[in-house]
Amino acid sequence: MRAAMAAAEVGDDVYGDDPTVNRLQAVAAERFGFERALFFVTGTQSNLSALMAHCARGDEYLVGQDAHTYKYEQGGAAVLGSIQPQPLENEPDGTITLGRIARAIKPQDVHFAKTRLLTLENTIHGSVLPLDYQREATEFAHEHSLATHLDGARVFNAIIKLEVAEREAVAGFDSVSVCLSKGLGAPAGTLLLGSKDFIAVAHRWRKALGGGLRQAGVLAAAGLYALKHHVARLAEDHANAELLAAGLRNSGVQVEPVQTNIVFAAIPARHVNGLQQHLAQRGILASIGERTRLVTHLDVSRQGVQEIVQAFGEYFDRAS
Ligand SMILES: *Cc1c(COP(=O)(O)O)cnc(C)c1O
Repeated sequence: MRAAMAAAEVGDDVYGDDPTVNRLQAVAAERFGFERALFFVTGTQSNLSALMAHCARGDEYLVGQDAHTYKYEQGGAAVLGSIQPQPLENEPDGTITLGRIARAIKPQDVHFAKTRLLTLENTIHGSVLPLDYQREATEFAHEHSLATHLDGARVFNAIIKLEVAEREAVAGFDSVSVCLSKGLGAPAGTLLLGSKDFIAVAHRWRKALGGGLRQAGVLAAAGLYALKHHVARLAEDHANAELLAAGLRNSGVQVEPVQTNIVFAAIPARHVNGLQQHLAQRGILASIGERTRLVTHLDVSRQGVQEIVQAFGEYFDRAS
């Protein structure tokens, strides 16, 4: 990846002249079945530009209470976009029931914000949204004149888990945001996918949000490398997450069922600090909490997982 970055042909992307950025955008648009793709440095900026392209000032988007675009982006849509969030409770599997969506759509009345958009997330906290649900929810939204956005930062994990084509995994959405860093291992980069007209509006917002880049081809080259070499291997991360979960359960730790690369482990409050210190002494940095989240990725080997399991085991052997 570093070699590909060093060798990247570049130009000024503010003028749309960076050949490597253009190639990445074309490849992604083709693979996901959209007219256009647009490169961003982060998912937060991509999601916000998408929300601002779908919604005007005073409009509203429906979003899961646990969704990244609501809970983990500092309320950017409200703060910077003047868009009202209408958070809705997520079911344990990450879906939002159609009944709940229906009840949240505001009538056209001077009292209410205009409900414009439904935003879903896949995977959400490591859970894969069923494709049937995505189809029903996006059809339902469109029947009610709402646009649909998918925060697909981790959608490649869903694609690998479900063994479906990229196009199939995002069918029904008007726009999708896909992360190239995190699991795919690029140092930075997110792609926003949509129609030609939608991307033109998002492109304007990207510039306003400080996201106009010049010789961004060095980053795009990393993204192209990641799309080529780091997608199929996500299956290894999923297998490692299973291994981690099984190992922790063996040590008596309660672990939630694992679907992709995210493991949630219940750590009794009285063990939170002790476990964190024990791990740190073994060179394992983890944010331990009562619901500890452990994520596997391409820099975590099977051997590394075994060491982590061993360290948890030692701690709980001694503690019990
Ligand atoms: C990480 C993440 C984002 C934000 O991406 P950044 O590149 O960190 O801004 C958005 N959505 C989901 C689901 C994420 O996991």
